[in-house]
Amino acid sequence: MIEILKETSHFIEMRNKFFTQTIGFVPTMGNLHEGHLSLIRKSLSENDVTVVSIFVNPKQFGEGEDFDQYPRTLDDDIKKIRKLDEKKILIFAPQNPSEIFPEGFSTQIQVQRRKILCDKFRPGHFDGVTTVVYQLFKIVRPFTAYFGQKDFQQFSYIKQMVDDLQLSVELSLCPTIREDSGIALSSRNQYLKTGTDKAKSLELFKTLSHIEQLILSNQDYTSYRNEKMAQKEWQYLEVLNAKTLQEDDGQSNSLVILGAMYVGETRLIDNILVSKGSVC
Ligand code: AMP
Repeated sequence: MIEILKETSHFIEMRNKFFTQTIGFVPTMGNLHEGHLSLIRKSLSENDVTVVSIFVNPKQFGEGEDFDQYPRTLDDDIKKIRKLDEKKILIFAPQNPSEIFPEGFSTQIQVQRRKILCDKFRPGHFDGVTTVVYQLFKIVRPFTAYFGQKDFQQFSYIKQMVDDLQLSVELSLCPTIREDSGIALSSRNQYLKTGTDKAKSLELFKTLSHIEQLILSNQDYTSYRNEKMAQKEWQYLEVLNAKTLQEDDGQSNSLVILGAMYVGETRLIDNILVSKGSVC
């Protein structure tokens, strides 16, 4: 059974019918690929009802970013979800931003952190993310919400918000789904038009994997990292404590290697989690 709801009031009416059942929630901006579908499958396997939201959130796009061009493919997305229709799925697809941010909306949820990684280069982006996720949690009232490791920094901000505001929702971090080549699936991959772009985009995952190998064999990665960062394509390439996103002080067993690079005009991000020895 699939229900498609485009208005918040209709969605809430439907959601209320399932008050005794477990609700899993997968927030997306649509243009669904296997990465999104893997989150939906996980939710289907763990809950009575799964809610998938499809909403291109204007608040998380900065000036000059691709809000207008962002691929909107609702009919295709619905077809893809229909193929998974094992249990109850509610698709919440607000067509008008005022469904989520009513006229005059002037509240912002801001996690205050050191401005690093994407937060340094996309000011205000995570404020847009946490604000929309907060609104969606309030409307959907999920038991568990599913997010991809692909956007690890985003997950870390959402987790901080949930912990700080003591929201009653479980968060589930799900593995990054990749092409056979290693490239992480992303709606932005379709901006990579030429074979050369595709080939260049392989460098991101290859570089992260190489640093992973250096870490696992206890070798220094700093000169390799600095060499990469000297190339203009690289925006950042960092190895951080996965729990705190603070600098790697050599003491943590749980690290995350994160990178962002440009292929032509397209900005790609990726990350790898590394456990050294026993995870604390
Ligand atoms: P988006 O539609 O880009 O906002 O992504 C919606 C959700 O899908 C987020 O939790 C993303 O982290 C997740 N996601 C995007 N790409 C992938 C991927 N390749 N593998 C797993 N999850 C992904």
